[in-house]
Amino acid sequence: MVSRVIPVDPFDLVIFGGTGDLARRKILPGLFRRFCAGQMPADARIVGAARTDMDTAAYRAMVSDAISEFGGEFACEGTTLEKFLQQIDYISIDARGEKGWAELQEKMSGTDRVEAYYFSVSPSLFGDLAERLQHWGMADHESRIVVEKPFGRDLETARALNKTLATYFAESQIYRIDHYLGKETVQNLMAVRFGNMLFEPLWNAQYVDHIQITVAETVGVGGRGEYYDKSGAMRDMVQNHLMQLLCLIAMEPPARFDPDAVRDEKLKVIRALDPVEPHHIARGQYLAEVGNETENPDYRTAVNDPRSHTESFVALKAKISNWRWAGTPFYLRTGKRMSARSSEITVVFKETPHSIFAEDAGRHRNVLSIRLQPNEGITLGVTIKEPGPGGMRLIDVPLDMTFADALGDQDADHVDAYERLIMDVIRGNQTLFMRGDEVEAAWAWTDPLIQGWEARNDVPKPYDSGSDGPTVSTELMRRDGREWRKV
Ligand code: NAD
Repeated sequence: MVSRVIPVDPFDLVIFGGTGDLARRKILPGLFRRFCAGQMPADARIVGAARTDMDTAAYRAMVSDAISEFGGEFACEGTTLEKFLQQIDYISIDARGEKGWAELQEKMSGTDRVEAYYFSVSPSLFGDLAERLQHWGMADHESRIVVEKPFGRDLETARALNKTLATYFAESQIYRIDHYLGKETVQNLMAVRFGNMLFEPLWNAQYVDHIQITVAETVGVGGRGEYYDKSGAMRDMVQNHLMQLLCLIAMEPPARFDPDAVRDEKLKVIRALDPVEPHHIARGQYLAEVGNETENPDYRTAVNDPRSHTESFVALKAKISNWRWAGTPFYLRTGKRMSARSSEITVVFKETPHSIFAEDAGRHRNVLSIRLQPNEGITLGVTIKEPGPGGMRLIDVPLDMTFADALGDQDADHVDAYERLIMDVIRGNQTLFMRGDEVEAAWAWTDPLIQGWEARNDVPKPYDSGSDGPTVSTELMRRDGREWRKV
């Protein structure tokens, strides 16, 4: 079965920060892949706009390099890249000044196509860009802006940013990116939940023992040490990515698969979250990699602050106070320099109420695991009889719900999260983007936790590089008679 690619309408996409890391690693290679797939129309235009002085020819060369470095493999011939590059222009622009704006305005005037402006720049420039766009008459109702993370660093700053953007753009024009929502498996999670009769009746506290959400990275803070130290795992990962996943797994079925119906339900989940008790939070900081201390130093050395109290790991137990989930814990965990790179949501069902099998057959649980990376896919652990003679022994086997065989080529035609989200912007579909009130509600939940450990002067516990976090994280689970899944 070959995937069906529906071309989007012609568009003009301006990438502010078009020379930056994100543009080179994700946005531009992603657009090229959509071009190769035949989804990007031949008359769509991409305009890189950044502070660097360069002409269009130099920019196209930079884009070409970025595609060879980060583009992965394409079923695209050499001439296709040339054609793609012909659709790209560059303008040297200053978000805070006058430079480049008249040129951009001229380029964007006189078309009645979709106009999208991607803010792939420091968040400190988001307000300036919105103001400049309006000042130069580019904030009309056909235009959209795409805003990168981080969206604020607490409730107050997120509110201020929402207010600033709302001065120039309607909420329906603002696309706040959380690239986790663009992952194939995340959408498949919704399809599995709401497209089957099988799961929804069991999707509640009566049948689910607990849910784990893990986002583990093997990398350290790298060159982002200074930025990261002002943020930490809670702000950088939990407030956005993990909470978004939590919402999708816990929300009530929306009445329709439309942006506001979905986002209304997600918002209700965040608002139903209880405050987290301090002893239900485990924070950690990674130690140096043994034998490779110079290249992979400990967290405090990496951020150049021997007294830093910022966490590179956090685990917590969250509770959702509503009818569906009362009594079911949600364990969230994320960290750097962990044993493997893995993002996974696991739904652990309860044991059967009574086992008809002999004691030594063991008690078993169904586990539904939704893997976001690596190897996106969904598996359901089911209990069967161990084949062969010798009595009734039970074993758990994974039922692969990725259905690679059934989907064939379609499954292989893998679309990166950024590509999907950019195409959604062009189509005007906000379902996979965070609404302003959602972001504020998420900060309203995380702020008191952060303020709590700051007030207690909590010091994160050290953990070994390449481990699964500090022992306090294991204890958090053990106290409840549970265990983290292997990363
Ligand atoms: P970067 O520092 O690599 O690039 C910044 C870009 O902004 C450059 O193109 C620069 O020319 C441009 N710029 C700076 N000042 C400007 C000005 N006054 N006027 C016009 N352009 C200006 O940053 P990045 O890593 O590409 O990140 C961009 C945004 O994306 C940030 O908000 C970041 O938090 C977010 N983000 C990045 C990543 C990533 O992997 N890099 C991941 C998630 C989110």
